[in-house]
Amino acid sequence: MSDITVTKVKQVGVLPTDKELGFGTIFTDHMFVMDYTTGKGWHSPRIVPYAECANYPAMIVFHYGQAIFEGMKAFRTEDNRICVFRPYEYLNRFNRSAEKLCIPKMDVEQIHDALFQLLALEKNWVPGQLGTSLYIRPFVVADEPHLGVKVADSFKLYIILSPVGAYYKTGFNPVSIKVEDKYVRAIKGGLGEAKTPANYAMSLAAQQDAYAEGFGQVLWLDAVHRKYIEEVGTMNILFKINGEIITPELNGSILGGITRKTVLELSRSWGLKTTERQISIDEVYDAYAKGQLDEVFGSGTAAVISPVGELSWKGQRIVINHNQTGPYAQKLFDYITGVQSGKIADQFGWMEE
Ligand code: PMP
Repeated sequence: MSDITVTKVKQVGVLPTDKELGFGTIFTDHMFVMDYTTGKGWHSPRIVPYAECANYPAMIVFHYGQAIFEGMKAFRTEDNRICVFRPYEYLNRFNRSAEKLCIPKMDVEQIHDALFQLLALEKNWVPGQLGTSLYIRPFVVADEPHLGVKVADSFKLYIILSPVGAYYKTGFNPVSIKVEDKYVRAIKGGLGEAKTPANYAMSLAAQQDAYAEGFGQVLWLDAVHRKYIEEVGTMNILFKINGEIITPELNGSILGGITRKTVLELSRSWGLKTTERQISIDEVYDAYAKGQLDEVFGSGTAAVISPVGELSWKGQRIVINHNQTGPYAQKLFDYITGVQSGKIADQFGWMEE
């Protein structure tokens, strides 16, 4: 994309040490910005210093939430290359979210090129320690100042970058999960399959209650029957039952995770039976009672794999795999993070330099 204008900072910042890195509080020197105006389409792509953005208080996103975002990662490999994990998967999902929110479609190739140009400029911000990465946050907001509820006529797309520390600083910790029976996250026909702020606003009260009760996360059930399993916190969920990998099918209310897709592809390549279908909480408790619930784990870009140690549903608690990380969760984690760090050869073509 040759028409990107570049305005550089006067003095570049310094990447903190790996120990100082948390999640999402430190940002690189530059960001990518592009505008959309009805009639003109997407225009004025530019790389500019990361800074406050001036916006009108009446802009539509503040009032009615017309916005989408993505979250992916770039890694510094052991042999010092910088690679993004499956960028087209995330960017295509970005466009699918755009459609749900009536946000104008973007040219994936154009955004991809803009991202890689930004990364080339910010390459010194990619940390190198195992588990660390440069988190990439593309997002679009409706920035037209207008208090009527409508589809906006102007939008801004941003890509900001944030160096992040290892998710597991002290090794894998299985999480105890509350099976949520009061709140729901999403409904079929709603926004559940889009990556849009409303879904995260929707999850806050449940998350807060779960924390107060001593749980690490909530397991979302479907909004209609309050029975079928959807997601865990902001991750997809997978069960290993009697040797088979089972995960809820993408039914419209679940976000189609890229890590979920990766886990399924990997499991199939290893010869495991994998099934995407409705799975009820009763079925999981049943499998547990029969001694067939081998492992439960979440999948997502941030943690990669997050083992579930305990489920609590209406006061009934079950402890999975003695509250230890199961061998399959460990194997998946080691493989995926191995490819990301360059330790394991990238047979699937997931990494883009
Ligand atoms: N579900 C929700 C609600 C999420 O926010 C995420 C994180 N993006 C996921 C699932 C996992 O998706 P991915 O593997 O693409 O990060």
